[in-house]
Amino acid sequence: MNSADDRRNVRAGHRNGGGTVTGFVHKGHSPHPSLDDSLEGEIRAFLTDEDQLHTYDDLTKVNPVTPTTVLKCLQARYRVKVFYTHAGCTLVALNPFQPIPDLYSLDVMKEYHCASQPQEFKPHIFIVAEEAYRNVQGQLEPVNQSLVVSGESGAGKTWTSRCLMKYYATVAASSSVLKSQDTVERIERRVLDSNPIMEAFGNACTLRNNNSSRFGKYIQLQLDRCQLLVGASVQTYLLEKTRVACQPANERNFHIFYQMMKGATDEQRKEWKMSHDQRFVWLPKAEKTIEEDCFHDTVEAMVHLGINAEKQRQIFKILAGILQLGNVNFSSSTDESQPCNLQEQAAELLCVPAEELQLCLRVRTLKAGKQSVLKPCSQAECSMRRDCLAKVIYAQLFEWLVTFINNSICADKSTWCNFIGVLDVYGFECFQINNLEQLCINYANEKLQQHFVAHYLRAQQEEYVSEGLQWSFVKYQDNQSCLDLIEGSPVSVFSLLNEESRLNRASDAKTFKVRLEKELCDNVNISWDKFSKVPHFTVAHYAGKVNYQIQGMVEKNKDPVPPELISLLQKSENALLHQIFTDREAENMTSKGLSKVTVVSKFKNSLESLMKILHTTTPHYTRCIKPNPDCKPLTFKKEEVIMHFFPLILIMGCKANLLEDQRKRILSQCAFSIQCCWLRYQRRRRQARRQSATLIQAVVRSWLVRRQVQRWNRAAAVIQNTWRKWRALLK
Ligand code: ADP
Ligand code: MG
Repeated sequence: MNSADDRRNVRAGHRNGGGTVTGFVHKGHSPHPSLDDSLEGEIRAFLTDEDQLHTYDDLTKVNPVTPTTVLKCLQARYRVKVFYTHAGCTLVALNPFQPIPDLYSLDVMKEYHCASQPQEFKPHIFIVAEEAYRNVQGQLEPVNQSLVVSGESGAGKTWTSRCLMKYYATVAASSSVLKSQDTVERIERRVLDSNPIMEAFGNACTLRNNNSSRFGKYIQLQLDRCQLLVGASVQTYLLEKTRVACQPANERNFHIFYQMMKGATDEQRKEWKMSHDQRFVWLPKAEKTIEEDCFHDTVEAMVHLGINAEKQRQIFKILAGILQLGNVNFSSSTDESQPCNLQEQAAELLCVPAEELQLCLRVRTLKAGKQSVLKPCSQAECSMRRDCLAKVIYAQLFEWLVTFINNSICADKSTWCNFIGVLDVYGFECFQINNLEQLCINYANEKLQQHFVAHYLRAQQEEYVSEGLQWSFVKYQDNQSCLDLIEGSPVSVFSLLNEESRLNRASDAKTFKVRLEKELCDNVNISWDKFSKVPHFTVAHYAGKVNYQIQGMVEKNKDPVPPELISLLQKSENALLHQIFTDREAENMTSKGLSKVTVVSKFKNSLESLMKILHTTTPHYTRCIKPNPDCKPLTFKKEEVIMHFFPLILIMGCKANLLEDQRKRILSQCAFSIQCCWLRYQRRRRQARRQSATLIQAVVRSWLVRRQVQRWNRAAAVIQNTWRKWRALLK
């Protein structure tokens, strides 16, 4: 880095330290003066030596904290294969994209678990895990803990969550045995086995991650009075069910379908009507090759959790039925009265009458008062109904699985007293085209960011007080205004969306757009490009601006399922399919014909209950970072990291001006004053010399000027001595 860069960074650091985003400013800090070349090296003594950057375990201790220095520190550490770094009370985890031997071994777990001061060890996810574990047994009373893992897709959230779960399953193993199920398994094993099942059904290969979770997850690990793991419960959020029937270009469907295709026995293939060379429209092959050999592991995990052979058969038949459904198309030339062969196969696998399936997909029932009118659907409508059928079956099956897992691993309330929650939710998303899913995901991220910032600033404040530092509070520009825009009342994007969904107008996209523009025109967080061909609105999120397409948003929010499809599925002779849709009807009936809950209302409610839980727990934040977009091992691309890390750096900026401890701070402040003195002296000396030179040239040396120069020379000696003394002290 050249000296000009250095100077820029120093100033940028100060800007971060006192800008609007910062929570604290340091009292009595003067802006860095522009430096004389001869002094540049001297002043550098206060800045972190670049060759030593990799040794910094905490990013907030790098001096100054600027995007450049923080980035260089992370890069230097990554180069020497150090993947974890503290950032104040947050842990930063860089994804190595390759297995690191012995980083998570049993011995390492033991080391961190048994240490009297694990914080003094090298930064590791196990420090966070251990800290939470020790906190649970609070000094006065037990406190529940939450481990929040954030980061963009492919950054390593799910990996980290798995590490955390493994850690507790090891150090808190209770070895208690649940005897109520067919297979007796230790509870720790069961808790871990919930992962492969949920990943098989809820993860898929995307452009950004070969094993991308398409749902959010909060798992509570239940601990008894002796802090032993006795059970767990899982809450999931917003499964991306559209993927079943529609996969983005070069992406794939959920893993489970590929696992079935690859791992089925001949007998199973026959039952599932799935030959070796069968092509399924809904199973695109992505360019990337990924592991599909996990069918055996998934089935084994199912067995451990108590999903018996018969239930498994039912599950896989339903999935095979979905795949067959995808191959059904509705060319207008088909004889509409006769179900085609593919449709028959799908009906057979789903155990529903073929003619009824045919009718449901092709004919709409319109209710006019007490009478029903049948109306044939267009080709596009037929496809939509087919996709809708597949999506609703898959989503309900996933929900059933989660409930089953919960029943299998959740301990009786009387046996546990505290929990450690692990949250693994999708990171901030911004694609070329964004829709309701991204709005919900980014809304969740806004909520979590708000929680994070509040927690970070509070923790920082406590630290300053304990160190006896002088600090002053600066009003933090919270992201509340953005949250108000999305979810607030009386008018917000969600409220307008829900209203439009309830009114069920044919032109809902148009009226939604008009109302957004009219009723939210005063909000600074939303904007429109009036000349854009694709109608959209832009939200200024904490992590950047995102364009949301208006077309289709209201429809997605309504998420309508034709009642004919539900009654068809209720007639299924597949006991599981019948069960999940009969339960669903019971659930609907309780709402006594009230308008169906919209997607955003449901999501908002589940997020609110999550936030409530988070507020009652002590949070621990881990920020995962994806160091390159191509998932290449040990490759660090600065541009990629800065993009996703920037919001955190801004928050960290609040510590930018603080050195390690008070002593160092005071010393450096004195040194700073001396530097300023020195600069002023140099300037004056130059002035005095210039003056004297002019005078010599003109007439005689003025005695006055000579005396002035002598005085400045004496002052210089004193200042220089003091400056050297302080510097020696600082070292
Ligand atoms: P996310 O859940 O954030 O989308 P994942 O946890 O699925 O990302 O991680 C993506 C991939 O990165 C994993 O499949 C794994 O191959 C790799 N990975 C992540 N964290 C680590 C780690 N700590 N060590 C080795 N590989 C990792
Ligand atoms: Mg994931």
